[in-house]
Amino acid sequence: MPTTPVGEAWRISPGLPYRHEETGVPAVKRIVLCGGGHAHVHVLQAFAKAPVPGAEVTLVSPFPRQIYSGMVPGWISGRYPLDACTIALPPLAEAARVRWVRGEAVSLDAAHRRLRLADGTLLDYDVLSLDTGSVQRRDRIPGAAEHALFVRPMETFATRWQALQQEIEFVTSAEGGRRLLAIAVVGGGAGGVELALALHHRLAGAARVTLVSGPAEPVPTHPAGTRSRVAEVLRRQRIPVMRMTCVAIADREVVLRSSGGAHVTLASDLTLLATGADAPAWLADSGLALDEAGFVATGPTLQSRSHPEVFAAGDVSSRTDAPHPRSGVYAVRAGPPLAVNLARFATGGALERWRPQRRSLNLLACGDGTAIASWGPFSAQGGWVWRWKDRIDRGFIDRYRLGAPASPAA
Ligand SMILES: Cc1cc2nc3c(=O)[nH]c(=O)nc-3n(C[C@H](O)[C@H](O)[C@H](O)COP(=O)(O)OP(=O)(O)OC[C@H]3O[C@@H](n4cnc5c(N)ncnc54)[C@H](O)[C@@H]3O)c2cc1C
Repeated sequence: MPTTPVGEAWRISPGLPYRHEETGVPAVKRIVLCGGGHAHVHVLQAFAKAPVPGAEVTLVSPFPRQIYSGMVPGWISGRYPLDACTIALPPLAEAARVRWVRGEAVSLDAAHRRLRLADGTLLDYDVLSLDTGSVQRRDRIPGAAEHALFVRPMETFATRWQALQQEIEFVTSAEGGRRLLAIAVVGGGAGGVELALALHHRLAGAARVTLVSGPAEPVPTHPAGTRSRVAEVLRRQRIPVMRMTCVAIADREVVLRSSGGAHVTLASDLTLLATGADAPAWLADSGLALDEAGFVATGPTLQSRSHPEVFAAGDVSSRTDAPHPRSGVYAVRAGPPLAVNLARFATGGALERWRPQRRSLNLLACGDGTAIASWGPFSAQGGWVWRWKDRIDRGFIDRYRLGAPASPAA
């Protein structure tokens, strides 16, 4: 992998252009954008409009497209083709004259400013920006790695779901609809609820979907009005909610534990894990300051608390000064200040401070052409909320779509 040679005599300091100590010739500063998440698609667009003088920018992502999670339940329920929910990354990179490297970061040596990719490629950087999202640890629930379908990485989930869907159609038609497929969705957050409703809608008459929400009721972090709307939708759609913790997953069954300690076994032909966000394991040895859960600790300028030349946005990071939930809304909002600050850090300007909003609008798709809106203590529901959500989501994709949708294998 060719990288810009930066010898001993090149002074690396914040502020560009940095110069050779003897000749004073300006050198190129290497900015690496790791991950093609919600904030970085905006950075690419901003760099296309206003290139960073004297910078060589590289984007690293394992796939040539970003799947927009907000539209995934709509894809599962059959309202969108998958292509409608994706943003192709190479055309965005090309428009910004950014080099796209297909790869997955597996380790980071922050002291030596070096990122290692899964294929062994080493990327040296002067400025690094992380927007790689969260992961789901595969060892949290015994048997999950072998028997469950994880919702992240989203690209793997999409591939597996497409294959499974064909299998489901084959099995249900072969059995002549004699047996309902048992599906357990584990995870009572907004994503789990939306996926349970979407699956129920998509496989109507062929599957029985159960939501396993942990000890709390579904969407426990939402206000009472939203919680009761969600409970009512689930009840109306006849989706049973098990307020129990999933403690093991085996072939065709899941083991649940009640808050009183009793164990129950639930038949499940397909177990979907939509449980919370974990930090990528490769950050642990990076030398970066992390929060107690292992996410990159950042401050108001989105810089790492320990390494000012490292920026992080979205689910991979934690604003230690202004904590906020991990959601796409905040990853999207971080895009504009991140683009400004990367450019200013590289060229020597004063950085902008970004204050995340206190409240965010959450729109939950119910799978049946309606959605629930939740904002602070207020909630609303109906077909008009779904149409509103649909307009916002399609608008987001349209903003960043250049050229044809990318195939994951491209
Ligand atoms: C089913 C579902 C529905 C959701 N709906 C909503 C919603 O409606 N609204 C909302 O606000 N939030 C929603 N969320 C949450 C939302 O998905 C996340 O908060 C959001 O995706 C975070 O954005 P991000 O940019 O941090 O990371 P991501 O969107 O996860 O993007 C990370 C990118 O980095 C790449 N990447 C990952 N690892 C590496 C690596 N090691 N090296 C290089 N690249 C890497 C990935 O391929 C991906 O392109 C939903 C989540 C789920 C599961």
